[in-house]
Amino acid sequence: MPRIFATVRELIYWEYAKIISEKAVGDRLNYKFTTFTYQKLIHGKSTPSSILSENQQLFLMGDICAYCGATGALHWEHIVPLSAGGPDNIDNMVRACAHCNLTKGARDPYQWYLGNKIEQIPRVVLGKFLKVVFDKYASQYLLDSTDYMQIHAVERITLSYIFHNQAASDVGQKNHLIQRTTGSAQ
Ligand SMILES: [Zn+2]
Repeated sequence: MPRIFATVRELIYWEYAKIISEKAVGDRLNYKFTTFTYQKLIHGKSTPSSILSENQQLFLMGDICAYCGATGALHWEHIVPLSAGGPDNIDNMVRACAHCNLTKGARDPYQWYLGNKIEQIPRVVLGKFLKVVFDKYASQYLLDSTDYMQIHAVERITLSYIFHNQAASDVGQKNHLIQRTTGSAQ
C-alpha cells in the first residue's frame, strides 16, 4: 500500500474507512467507497465512534473466539497486549480461544496478521484496536502531529508502539502546552 499519510489521524482514518467499507458494501478493499468514507472522516462529517460500536457487536456475536470463531473454553484476550503497554479494560479486550490467544502472544493484530493476511483481521477486533490506539494518540496530542509522523514513520504495524513511547508523549504534551499558551491551537 503505497499511500502516504501526513499524520497518525490520516492513517487510522484510512484503516477505519476500510472496515466501514466492509460493513457497508461487503468489501474492505473497495477503493472507491473507502476513499469516499475517508474523506467524510477527514472532514469531520462522521466520526469513527459514531459509526462503529464494536463492544455491542461483540455481545451480539455470542461467546465465540473473535479471531477464529471457535467456541468452548475462551479467554479474555488483550488486543494490545498488557506487556506492550495496552490498557486493562474492556475496550482493549475480546474473547479468544486458547489457541489464538497463545499463538498471538505479545503482538497486536497487525503484527500477528503480518503480510498479505493483514486485511483478514476480523472487523470487530480491528475496530476495537483502532479505537484504543486512536484514543491513546489523542490523549498524547499526537493525532495531528506531522513532526511525530515524520520522525517515527508510523505505519500499521508500529501504531501500538505509542503505548511504550514515553518520550513521544512528552513531546506531544509539550507541543500541546505551547499551542495553548500561544493560542495557535484550533
Ligand atoms: Zn480462536
